[in-house]
Amino acid sequence: MAAGEKRILCVGLVCLDVISVVEAFPAEDSDTSFVLDDLRRYGVDARHAVRQPAGRLPASIVIASTSRGTRTILHAGGNLPDVTARDFERVDLSQYKWIHWEARNAGEQAAMVRRVERHNQSRPAGERVRISVEVEKPREELLPLMALGHVVFISKDLAQHFGYRSAAEALRGLRHRVQPGATLICAWAEAGADAVGPDGELVHSDAFPPETLVDTLGAGDTFNAAVIFALAEGKSLQDALTFGCRIAGKKCGIEGFDGIV
Ligand code: ADP
Repeated sequence: MAAGEKRILCVGLVCLDVISVVEAFPAEDSDTSFVLDDLRRYGVDARHAVRQPAGRLPASIVIASTSRGTRTILHAGGNLPDVTARDFERVDLSQYKWIHWEARNAGEQAAMVRRVERHNQSRPAGERVRISVEVEKPREELLPLMALGHVVFISKDLAQHFGYRSAAEALRGLRHRVQPGATLICAWAEAGADAVGPDGELVHSDAFPPETLVDTLGAGDTFNAAVIFALAEGKSLQDALTFGCRIAGKKCGIEGFDGIV
């Protein structure tokens, strides 16, 4: 990355996934360094990660079906505290063009977003930080976060929880929850993804199924990352959605994340 170029910051949680088809398990008590090493290997700068000297990392055992590409997840939540608004104060916002939140501790996260909004008010349009939020878990206390993002991702899970049977139906029903001028995006596994843009335009991309479905774990996060990357590069909503589905589809055809780029 060129010096002075602004970056994309993600606020969320890292979970250790142990996939049942791995050849080697991480050594006992090595999980935190294992996670940091893994982030480094993928070029993710973890300088703002809040180190917790004590506690258990959340971990999932994933049973991946080789015949269907589906996964069954046994999750142990761990006991690490979430990132707080106070932790977030240490971030120099002028270094970032985009900050993405994975909805978790809604009250603290709302305070973080408000800090970014205050920062934006004092900056010219070209220097403002874009705010995106993903609400994946269908939990009532997370829903107010939908009103805070410039770009809001909702999951199929959340949509189905509200009784919607397609992404388009979910967008129609949940649009009133986002702020005027915001973009709402809903991915729907093999049906691709739909979005409604700032002017109310509806866009859709079909999925790009791989030749063989290998591993869908992380397809949603891959989709979100690719869409954010494309929008941050100034691509249209349609192009960003198509790019997201293309990259997520590619991910579904490989084990893990090596080889997406
Ligand atoms: P997750 O359940 O991982 O949060 P989704 O299932 O909603 O995410 O999928 C996100 C994106 O990944 C979809 O929009 C689609 O582009 C791609 N995707 C997911 N499952 C498949 C699949 N079986 N075939 C092709 N693409 C898929």
